[in-house]
This record gives sequence, C-alpha cells and structure tokens, in this order.
Amino acid sequence: MPAQCPTGAISFVEREAAAYDEAAVLANKAAKEQAAAKPHFSGCPGSMMRQFNRNSQVNAETEDSAAGYTVSPVAPESQLAQWPCQIKLVPVNAPYFDGAKLLIAADCTAYAYANMHQDFMKGRITIIGCPKLDDVDYSEKLTQIISNNNIQSVTIVRMEVPCCGGLEYAAKTALQNSGKFIPWQVVTISIDGKILD
Ligand code: SF4
Repeated sequence: MPAQCPTGAISFVEREAAAYDEAAVLANKAAKEQAAAKPHFSGCPGSMMRQFNRNSQVNAETEDSAAGYTVSPVAPESQLAQWPCQIKLVPVNAPYFDGAKLLIAADCTAYAYANMHQDFMKGRITIIGCPKLDDVDYSEKLTQIISNNNIQSVTIVRMEVPCCGGLEYAAKTALQNSGKFIPWQVVTISIDGKILD
C-alpha cells in the first residue's frame, strides 16, 4: 500500500501584531546604556570593593531559626565597614583607608572574643588574616597600606597562642618600615575569649 502524505500538520493563524510602544523601546534602550556605563569588575565577585554606611542599618528582630542556629532577639549590628576584609584581598589603596583607624585582626579572634564588632571593629577599618594558614608574609602588604594611606591608628588583635605572633610581628614590621609615627596597640585574646593584660 503506497504511503500517504500527512495532512493538517501545518496551519496558519492570522492575528494582529502588538502596537509599537515607543516609550517601552526607549526605556529598554536607556536601561541597556546605563548597564553598559557601569564600571566593569572582572575579578572574583567576592573580591569586589564595597563600603557600607553603618548609620542607616536597622536592627532586625528575629526568633530562633529552624536552620539549626539561634538568632538573638535583638540582632547586633555588624560593624564591618568595607569589603573585602581579608588582608590578601584588600587593595593597598582604597578610599576607606583615608583617615582610618585600622584594625588588623587574626581570623580566630572574632570567634574567640564575643564582642568583637562593638569593642574592636566599631569605627575602624578591619582587615584580617591568619599568619599560620595563609602561608604568606603580611608585612609587605601592610607596609604598603600604612605607607600609601593616611592611617590614624593601628590596633592589632591576636590570639594568645604562639602561632598568632606572626600577625603582630608583621604589623609591627610594617609600622617600622612605613617610617610613620602612628599610635598602635596590641590586644591579645585568650582561647577562652578574654582580653589578656
Ligand atoms: S595563627 Fe593560629 S590562632 Fe592565629 S588566626 Fe591563625 S590559626 Fe588562629
């Protein structure tokens, strides 16, 4: 039996095209031009510089989370004033360094010392690192930051354990190498979260 051609596979429907909306076309064009005008950041998105206005943030009131952690009824406000905060990632020149009180903190201090944000980070530009695990000599970059910017003071917060002494050493070396006379202090945190004398 000869094969038969299928019928009804194609049909035509007549309908009116949507009216040309000039306003919408112009708005779309303007949005595209605006997006194209924004400075292009080509690095890791996590390293993109940001500065935060901490005066306008409102505390959120939240209850226990089902996610497995407890959220305080009155959430403390973060005092991190810029991003990124890792010494390895911060630029050596940044607007937020101008006139800054600089906090150089070891990674573990924020976990050991409960009130890190209010007692140390508030009003300061915070940069952090771990002299043991980061496997880098921070003194060179810290020297550049202190030399290139109008830093008002330097606070170093480290843990009591010997491995953390590298951060203090790097910061002191940077202060010395910068040739500047800047007020500085070292605060040592015990592993049970207390400030040691
Ligand atoms: S050096 Fe030791 S105590 Fe200091 S941040 Fe690194 S792991 Fe923590």
